[in-house]
Amino acid sequence: MANFLQDNEDILFHLEHMDIDRVITLKEMEFADKGKYPHAPNDIDDAKDSYKKVLEIVGEICGDYLAPQAAEIDKEGVKLVNGEVQYAKGTAEVLDLFAKADLMGFALPRKYGGLNFPTLMTSIAAEMVMRADGSFLNFGLQQDIAETINKFASEEQKMKYLPKLCTGEHGSSMILTEPDAGSDLPAVALRAYQDESGQWYLHGVKRFITNGCGEIGLVLARSEDKTGARGLSQFIYKRDSKMVIRRLEDKLGIHGSPTCELQFNDAPCELMGERGRGLTEYTMWLMNSARLGIGAQAVGIAEAAYREAAKYASEREQFGKSIDTMVPVYEMLTDMKVSIEAGRTLLYETAKVVDIKEGLEHMAEVHPEKAAELKSEMKLYRKLAGLLTPMVKAYATEMCNKVAYDAIQIHGGTGYMREFNVERHARDARITNIYEGTTQLQIVAASPGVTSGTAKMLIDEFDQEDYSHMGETLNLVREAKEKLYAAVELVNSAKNKVYSDYHSQRLVEMATAIIQSYLMMRDARHSDRKKKVAELHIEKAYSLVEHHRHFIAEGRAVLLDHYMDIIG
Ligand SMILES: Cc1cc2nc3c(=O)[nH]c(=O)nc-3n(C[C@H](O)[C@H](O)[C@H](O)COP(=O)(O)OP(=O)(O)OC[C@H]3O[C@@H](n4cnc5c(N)ncnc54)[C@H](O)[C@@H]3O)c2cc1C
Repeated sequence: MANFLQDNEDILFHLEHMDIDRVITLKEMEFADKGKYPHAPNDIDDAKDSYKKVLEIVGEICGDYLAPQAAEIDKEGVKLVNGEVQYAKGTAEVLDLFAKADLMGFALPRKYGGLNFPTLMTSIAAEMVMRADGSFLNFGLQQDIAETINKFASEEQKMKYLPKLCTGEHGSSMILTEPDAGSDLPAVALRAYQDESGQWYLHGVKRFITNGCGEIGLVLARSEDKTGARGLSQFIYKRDSKMVIRRLEDKLGIHGSPTCELQFNDAPCELMGERGRGLTEYTMWLMNSARLGIGAQAVGIAEAAYREAAKYASEREQFGKSIDTMVPVYEMLTDMKVSIEAGRTLLYETAKVVDIKEGLEHMAEVHPEKAAELKSEMKLYRKLAGLLTPMVKAYATEMCNKVAYDAIQIHGGTGYMREFNVERHARDARITNIYEGTTQLQIVAASPGVTSGTAKMLIDEFDQEDYSHMGETLNLVREAKEKLYAAVELVNSAKNKVYSDYHSQRLVEMATAIIQSYLMMRDARHSDRKKKVAELHIEKAYSLVEHHRHFIAEGRAVLLDHYMDIIG
């Protein structure tokens, strides 16, 4: 009997120590559902108790049912039979368990049948699910799609679509990408048009659509006679015979997840929200929500790979001793563990920021009389979410790939063999830094927050807290932050877009390492072990920051002059 909550000391640590009272009060709108719904909490402690109980159920399903079937799901894969997707047996079974346990509406309001849990709890649940099987995207994706409908659709549409998403009777998909529009979503061409009665229809092709077989789709389509993002609107599509699944992709990893090519043949649909705001507002919101989900996926897959590697290293003997007593092996294992914990603390902090932002926006909507009072705080949390969301997606997904890579290395030749789980984790990890925007696109999204002062504001705010428990280590972090500020100043002062683009990844990596350092020093207040974890992270973070600072300050950016002579 394995429970992926109970066996994960780091998640339990965060659940015990994180300060989420504000998140709960905002999410529960001062406990407005109290007495109206059987499971609505009466107060903060009651809410925390209910989060833990539900996460335990998720942990049990993950440990006892999903993880033991993941290898078989990977082998079996998905099939397209007579135009319909067939999931692997294990995926279908666990989907059924999630539905029966009322978990599919995790994040949605109770009035539609949801649990009304904050994003933070969804992230923890998603991480456990992804540790069990990196291809089981049905749970996380459904939350993102349903939440987008909840945020932007009309009440009539919400009543029509959300209850069946909550019960799991309907699956769902996010339908954005086209052959000529991947990172460049403003280039989306699939056409949406209206007939005389005002009914909308979709016509064209979408590709790479996860769960494209789901009954409900959010489709980005060109409804206006305008180029670029302003011509795009968002539509809710309910599966019918006017949409054909043309093929399933044959992929490197996440074999249990169907990636569909869809042909819309004048398929009827409904406009969601306002025309022309499909990409700039609704899809961006959906993608940011999904980016956090992929951050959780990455932490979960990394956790799975680390555990395999640690177990193997403790059992495998070479030269008369177990390999985890050898410096290069235990350095790899320690780095893996520290980088996962750095990813997790950043993930949870980001989810908390997103919860507060969403809570404030909801409060301002429900109580317009409070909107003016909440305005400056909403602006602050929007900025923070705009910085941290792509930052955690970039960090966690690159980290997950490195952890999965090292997990194979620790297994030696065995790691290359199909019968061991680490090669599956490495294949599954590989998609995380590609979909929902590649790492390069996350850097594009995060770097303005680093160069325009949002990161500095956050770091300076963190720096006000008491870290006396960290001794000399705090000085390293403070030195690192000054190095970041100097590097930002240098890049900004060049006033050259190409030069800024060239250094943007370096600046985002520096800011990420420093923000994580502060978060880990915070965590260290509660445990000696966490202090050691923070010290290890900070030692490596400092040298990364110094390395990048040196490259920016002392380098001559020769790449920009010479790249054409080399690759042209
Ligand atoms: C398994 C899988 C599942 C998917 N699921 C979904 C889904 O459910 N719904 C959906 O709509 N889409 C989905 N996608 C699509 C996915 O989001 C895109 O593949 C991804 O955003 C990248 O787009 P692209 O493949 O067209 O690559 P491209 O945009 O062609 O990018 C190619 C390379 O160019 C780089 N690049 C492009 N633009 C820039 C830039 N401005 N700055 C720096 N570098 C740049 C990229 O980083 C990348 O390295 C899925 C894809 C896969 C593989």
